[in-house]
Order: sequence, then structure tokens, then C-alpha cells
Amino acid sequence: MQQVSVLGSTGSIGVNTLDVLRRHPERFRVFALTASKSTDALLRQCLEFKPQYAVMVDDQCALSLQSQLKQFGSATEVLSGHDALSEVASHADVDIVMAAIVGAAGLASCIAAALAGKRLLLANKEALVVGGAVFMAAVEKGGATLLPIDSEHSAIFQSLPDVRELWSETVDKLILTASGGPFRTWSTSQIREATPEQACAHPNWVMGRKISVDSASMMNKALEIIEAKFLFNVQPAQIDVLIHPQSVIHSMVQYVDHSVVAQLGTPDMRGPIAYGLSWPTRVESGTKPLDFASMPSWTFESIRSPEHQERFPGLFLAWETLQGQSGATTVLNAANEVAVAAFLDRKIRFDEIYSLNRATLDALAFTTPRDLPSLLVLDAEARSQATQFCKAWSI
Ligand code: NAD
Ligand code: MG
Repeated sequence: MQQVSVLGSTGSIGVNTLDVLRRHPERFRVFALTASKSTDALLRQCLEFKPQYAVMVDDQCALSLQSQLKQFGSATEVLSGHDALSEVASHADVDIVMAAIVGAAGLASCIAAALAGKRLLLANKEALVVGGAVFMAAVEKGGATLLPIDSEHSAIFQSLPDVRELWSETVDKLILTASGGPFRTWSTSQIREATPEQACAHPNWVMGRKISVDSASMMNKALEIIEAKFLFNVQPAQIDVLIHPQSVIHSMVQYVDHSVVAQLGTPDMRGPIAYGLSWPTRVESGTKPLDFASMPSWTFESIRSPEHQERFPGLFLAWETLQGQSGATTVLNAANEVAVAAFLDRKIRFDEIYSLNRATLDALAFTTPRDLPSLLVLDAEARSQATQFCKAWSI
């Protein structure tokens, strides 16, 4: 029986994780569930999964959850605050940590799980974009097993040789596929005026609002390029992006002999989640099988066409920031979190997400953060700079 802490259990990835865990009660037990403020959702989850701990980041929400759980006679202990996230991620009784918090807010708990040597299932890509080499050093130091949950990175992991030592000598290129999001065929003037509702209407995936906006701007793919660089230890130039609107091929590895291995499946995050939980074996995930005979044809588009370069300028910031000091990806992530929140609050236009990211990158002298505290300082500086720009630009 493996004990699992699900960080961010009330979100899209969290709910999908619990769906997979529910299918395998003989194999997994929920140890801890965490949420920011969604008290009702966390209450329902606690009553069903009976975890040892429930963490609410917000103190008032934690008090409310505690009193409601008491009324139901629940034995779940409620903790509050950010440090409690790291406590349930590194607890000695935990085997597996699902990192499904959105944004840099999940970084400290990821590092705690890594240092404690857990099997760390990484959905929270921002944590790796912010943490970069510091994050990977914690994985190494703690002897953790870091497994990707992002569908592209899970696909690449499934397409790579089992023997890690062979990766560097056999891999030519990693090809990340991208659906192109809801604005793939829109003109730049339409994209400029896009609303939060339009940006969140993804054609193939149902996800949280932050990643939905990132998918619409293709900043999600930029974050994924950075994520792939650290996960698979390749050069930025070895990572390519290919638009594949049907989202059936989840990503591919091209080898030095130009043979290509791909991973396919229906677009359903329970696939990569089940693989992360069960690796190196496999378990039933609830995902529907592909029906090849009745499938529409698969199509591909280059991201380097002039139209796509104009539509999605943010995508190219990935390669640029990976060439600079390691703090550049930290700054980019922080600016983007501020920009997406401002766009969702209708304070800036959609195209200003890129402008804000660009301006924040240009404004800050990059440093190389060496540890978690210096990463958090740089993250805070970049947020403050981006917020100042935002105030000046607010519509
Ligand atoms: P979501 O917004 O649906 O859920 C986020 C979860 O994190 C919630 O449980 C929320 O309570 C918690 N949370 C939010 N802010 C927090 C904070 N400051 N401190 C602590 N907890 C906080 O997000 P999601 O779509 O489930 O995405 C989660 C992560 O997984 C993101 O990093 C995203 O990029 C990544 N991801 C998501 C998908 C997907 O299909 N949704 C696919 C690939 C990767
Ligand atoms: Mg992805």
C-alpha cells in the first residue's frame, strides 16, 4: 500500500488524480489533501478519502474546514499555512507526492518532497521553471524519483529508453506537440481583443484558468520547453515544437538515426497521472481507448510560419531565457503569473501578457539564484516589477 499526498487536490489535476486513486484502493491510500481556499470541495474529498491530514493555505478556511469535519466525526487533522504544504510533502509516512498546485506557490513543497526522497509526480511545471537547476539539485540530493505528469513530458518519458545513461548519446531531438489552443487560426487583431472566456475555452482539454490562458498565448508551451530542458537534460536547441491540433500524439523523441518514437492516447490527464503513479508498471486509468479507424486525419503545422510567430511571440521567450542567466526563467514565470492574473481580472489586454513578460525580462538584471531563498527573492522582485508595469498600463 502506497501513501499519497495530493497537493492542490481540488484543482483539475487534483480531481483527476483522485479519480485514478479511487480506482485502486488496494494499491494507494490518500495521506494528505491540500487546497488554497476551496473549503467545500476539500470537505467533500476528506469525507470520501479520509486522509490523515488536510491542509488549507488560508487560516480562516482551515478553521471552517476543521469545524465542519468535526460535525461529521472525521478523524482528519486540519493544518494551515504554506509550511504545512511542505510538511505533508516530506512526511516520513508518505511514498508519493502529486505536485498539482498552480504556479510558483508550489515550489517550496516540491523541493521539500525532493529533499525527502519521495516519488514526486510533477504537474506543477511553474515550480521547475522557477527552480531550474536548484530544483534538480534537490532531486539529486534527496534521491527522489521525479516523474513528469504534463502530458508532453510523460509522452517523452515513455518514448525514451529505460536506461537513462543512453539518453544523451541516442537522442537527437525532443518534439513537443501543441494543439495551438483556441486562437490557432485567429488574426492578431482578434487575439488582441480576446476575452478571458474566449481564452479559457480550450478545444481539447478542460483545465484550470491559469494554464488555459497560457495555452491560448502558447506561454504554456514556452514553460514546457523550459520544463523539458531540466527534466531531460538536453540543450535548448534540441527541443522543437510542432502544432498538432488533434492532440492525439502527445509528443515524440527523434533519435540520432532519425527514427521517431511517439506516445499516443486520448487527451485525458488520467493517462499520464496513472502512469506516474504506477511506473514502471501500468494500471487502469479510466481513459477511453483510441479508435483509430474513425479518427479524423492528423495534421501538423510549423510554429515558425510567419503567422504563428506573429500570433504567439511568447513561445519564443523559452529559448531566449534558456540562453541567459538561470534567473531569467524565474523572472519570466513570475511576470507571466502576474500578467495572466491581470488579464483574467480584465486589467490588461490579451496581447499585453506578452508585452508585460517582455518588459519585465528587459527591466531586471539577471542573477543566478543558488538556493530556494534566493529564488524566492528574485521571484518577488519580478512580481513587484511586473505589478508596477501592470498598474501603469491598466485599462
Ligand atoms: P487549478 O487551478 O485547477 O488547481 C490548482 C490547485 O492548487 C487547487 O487545488 C488550488 O486550491 C491550489 N492552489 C492555488 N493557488 C495556491 C496557492 N497559492 N497555494 C497553495 N495551493 C494553491 O490548476 P490545474 O489546472 O489543476 O493545474 C495545476 C498544475 O498542473 C499547474 O501547474 C498546471 O500548469 C499543471 N498542469 C495542468 C494540466 C491540466 O490539464 N489541468 C495539464 C498539465 C499540467
Ligand atoms: Mg502540457
